[in-house]
Formats: sequence, structure tokens, C-alpha cells
Amino acid sequence: MTAALSISDLHKCYDNGFEALKGISLDVQQGDFFAVLGPNGAGKSTTIGVICSLVKKTSGKVSVFGTDIDDNFSLAKQNIGVVPQEFNFNQFEKVFDIVKTQAGYFGLPSKLAEERTEKYLKQLGLWDKRHQRSRMLSGGMKRRLMIARALVHEPRLLILDEPTAGVDIELRRSMWQFLRDINAQGTTIILTTHYLEEAESLCRNVAIIDRGQIIQNTTIKALLKQLNKEVFILDTREEL
Ligand code: ADP
Ligand code: MG
Repeated sequence: MTAALSISDLHKCYDNGFEALKGISLDVQQGDFFAVLGPNGAGKSTTIGVICSLVKKTSGKVSVFGTDIDDNFSLAKQNIGVVPQEFNFNQFEKVFDIVKTQAGYFGLPSKLAEERTEKYLKQLGLWDKRHQRSRMLSGGMKRRLMIARALVHEPRLLILDEPTAGVDIELRRSMWQFLRDINAQGTTIILTTHYLEEAESLCRNVAIIDRGQIIQNTTIKALLKQLNKEVFILDTREEL
């Protein structure tokens, strides 16, 4: 089966000469829930930036469901939904409009765009906030708004860049459950995190990135074994 994401020998050298990615290669299979673990500055956001064409790569190949982003980015991007690390919406725009506008970018006709906006705002618990300007939302609500916006065109691959950083425990748990459900319905998910526990609770496979290189690419089970930890039935765990 074609990989959901295939990255081959990816390099990124920023304009100041800093080599942020030094030959990343990575395959994520369809249906997987995949964690990219790594400390701050490892290159996680740079990698995501390249996948969604916000960061220009220096060299290497990236394919999304078999489509090379250099050959046909507009086709590749239909399959990608991204939740960036930083809030990047217009603080004065209303919640409903933010999601609907995104649907418009993906060419959804107005009526369908509105239906989808309603569907995802409801799923993310934001329907009663739909007339509010985004700056009025709490941090957790903004994070959920970014998830609704990333899903509105129903991409096959959802990429989340540290989605639960700074999110309180209760919301973190409900976001985890939401992501598990989305994954169970067939969406491939890639999540960056520096919480091992988050990867453990959600993911099957994991890559560890450090200083621009993949230093491990394995299953979460094997990683935990290696770290000498027991694997629990994760859904029922209480901590974090
Ligand atoms: P992570 O998301 O894993 O924390 P990033 O991909 O954001 O890491 O950053 C990787 C490295 O690239 C860091 O050392 C960061 O300082 C550097 N970096 C990121 N963006 C730029 C930029 N625009 N110019 C120069 N260096 C950058
Ligand atoms: Mg980052």
C-alpha cells in the first residue's frame, strides 16, 4: 500500500546557514497513529513546514499518498490537514468564519462548507462559540479551533504540531480521545510531542528526531521496552 507520508533524505539549511534537517527519511503508513518525538529545536516543526510547503526544503523528496509535493502540491495538500504549533488565525475573525473560510480554500461549495463547519465545530465543542471573535477564546479553545479548521476538508492525513503543549489535563484527555476516534475512522495521524507519555498513550509507531536527524524509528512498544518501562493498557491510564 502507498505510504500516507514518505520522506526521503530531507535537508533544510535556513538562510542564516543553520542546518536544521540533515537527511531525514521517514515512512508513515496509511491508518497509522505516528509520533515524532524530540526535544526543542530538533527539527520537528521544520519538517512539518516542509510537508505543507510553508518551509522551502534544500533537498530531498516528500510524497503524500504517492503524490510528490514538488510535482503537484495542490493535489497533495488536499490530503493534508495541519494543526500548527502556534495560533495563526486572524484574532478578529469569528470562529465560524475561520473554519468556513478554510473550507473555501479547499474549493468546497458554500453550502457544504457551512455543513462541515457546523459538523466540526460541534465535534470540537465550539458550536456555541461560533459568533465569537477568535481572540476571545481560551488557549484550549483556540487549539480545538485549529483542529476543526484542519479537518474541515476531511484530509486523509492529519498532522498536529505539539497540540497539547500548555493544555490542561482534562482537555488533553478529551483531545486524545477525539484523536483516537478520528484515527479509528481511518484518518492517518502524525503528532509531534516531547511527552513520551503522550506518544505512549496514542501512537503505534514513533520516530525520535534530534538535531536534524532521525535517531530512532521503531514501535512505541519496542521503544518502551528499550527504556525499560512496562507497557500498560494505555486507554485506562490516569496520569498526565
Ligand atoms: P522543533 O519544532 O523540533 O522544536 P524547529 O524545527 O522549530 O524545531 O527548529 C529546528 C532548528 O532550526 C532550531 O535550532 C531553530 O532555532 C532553527 N530554526 C527554525 N526556524 C529558523 C529560521 N527561520 N531561521 C534559522 N533557524 C531556524
Ligand atoms: Mg516545533
